[in-house]
Amino acid sequence: MSSSKIALHWASPVLFIPLLLLQGTTFANFLHHFYDTVYLNSAGKKIRQAPGGTTMVTFIIKTIATNDSLYGTHPEEIANVQRGSCHPISAIEAARVEYLIMQKEYDSALQTGNLVKLRPLGERKMDGKVMLEDDGEGKDRPANNIEYATIVYKNGTRTQTASEPADPSKGGIHVAPPDLDSAITYTHSHPSGTRPAGIRTWSFYPQAPSKDDINLIVPGTTRVVFGRGSDLVYIYDGCGVIAALKTKDYLRL
Ligand SMILES: [Zn+2]
Repeated sequence: MSSSKIALHWASPVLFIPLLLLQGTTFANFLHHFYDTVYLNSAGKKIRQAPGGTTMVTFIIKTIATNDSLYGTHPEEIANVQRGSCHPISAIEAARVEYLIMQKEYDSALQTGNLVKLRPLGERKMDGKVMLEDDGEGKDRPANNIEYATIVYKNGTRTQTASEPADPSKGGIHVAPPDLDSAITYTHSHPSGTRPAGIRTWSFYPQAPSKDDINLIVPGTTRVVFGRGSDLVYIYDGCGVIAALKTKDYLRL
């Protein structure tokens, strides 16, 4: 009978030892072993997933993108008053951090100052649900012509808001969340909406953080913009964009 076989196994001392060990530790310590630190390269691709730590943490190597690659090279883009700026590291610096991570020299990698810690994955996924109301397909679909915003406050509360639908041929768009000064972090989207204009197309510019976005940041904090038209997520501080990656990579690890 299979039931008697199971009883015999439970009586086995080999199986009792791990059970007793489990009882002697806390559940949190037990869970500990399931948390990892994830390292992404500057393009947002995973280069290492190292076990350990008490919470899941994800780091990305700072961007090597240039102002021109994030904000465009067309004369109108260069002249646009809302053109922001990028604060990149060199490709050599990025390669050095990546090498340290591959060598498991995690402390040395952190000490370069060229790793950016992402917000917890659960929070990023909640943000993604809001930002992806804009499906990235542009045109005049109302949901693709709205700026969405989420805010996490110092007391742990969270709120979200959105602008009215706007028309990219008629100028800028703005969302104004409440109490931004007491926010831990603030995430908003730049819409994918487009309108035809003869052989050209109107779109919302920039897709990366605007000059106002960068100027209005609380010093010492980082914020996030989802460029729904560019399908990139940008992390920026008061100096400009410090990391950028594909939307799906931002929401994955
Ligand atoms: Zn913005």
